[in-house]
Amino acid sequence: MSDHEHEHDHEHEHEHEHEHDEPLTDAEARAEAERLVRKEVALAQIRQYGDPVLRMRADDVEAFDEELARITGRMVELMHDADGVGLAATQIGIVRRFFVATLDGEDRVLVNPVVTPVGDETEFDEEGCLSLGSIRVPIERAVRVQVDARDAAGEPVALSLEGIDARVVQHELDHLDGVLLLDRTEAESRRDALSQLRPRLVLQP
Ligand SMILES: [Zn+2]
Repeated sequence: MSDHEHEHDHEHEHEHEHEHDEPLTDAEARAEAERLVRKEVALAQIRQYGDPVLRMRADDVEAFDEELARITGRMVELMHDADGVGLAATQIGIVRRFFVATLDGEDRVLVNPVVTPVGDETEFDEEGCLSLGSIRVPIERAVRVQVDARDAAGEPVALSLEGIDARVVQHELDHLDGVLLLDRTEAESRRDALSQLRPRLVLQP
C-alpha cells in the first residue's frame, strides 16, 4: 500500500518552502534527487497492474529459511524506497503468503497471516497501491482486526490493530488472494481509476 500521509507531508514541505522562497541547499537538492531515483528503481521492481501474478492466490509458506529472511529483508527496503507502508510477496512475483508492513512505526514481516475483523464497525478511506500507479480510491474496511501470523523466523505473532494499521493488513492480505483495490471499489471510482491506468498500459510492452 502506498503512503498517503507521507505524500501530504511533502506537499506541506513544498508549500512551506515556497512561502519563504528559500531554495534548497545543494545537499538537500542532492538528497531529494537521490530519494526520487531510489523510488523509481524500487517501483520498477514492483509488479504493476496488468501483470497476471497480481491475480494469483498465493500458497502458504512452509520453510522458514534463510531465503525467506533474505527476501523479506529486501522487501522492507523496497517498501521504504517506494514510499510505501506495505508490500506483498505477489507484488514482487513470489506467489507465497507473506507481506511486510510498517505498523505503528515498526516494520513487520507477517507470514501465513490470518486476519479476523473485530466487531462490525467499518469505514471508508482512500487507498493507493504500489502496483497501481498514482490512483487512489475509497475502500471500505473493518476498523479493527486481529492478526495471527508468523515472523520470518517462524515465531508466532499476534497483533490487535485499528485504523490505518488495520487497513494496511487488510490491503496486503487482499494481494495474497489476488484481489486489487479495483475489485473493492464501487463502479464510478473503478471507471475513473481504470481511465488513469489504461494510458500506462498502452506504453507497456
Ligand atoms: Zn497494494
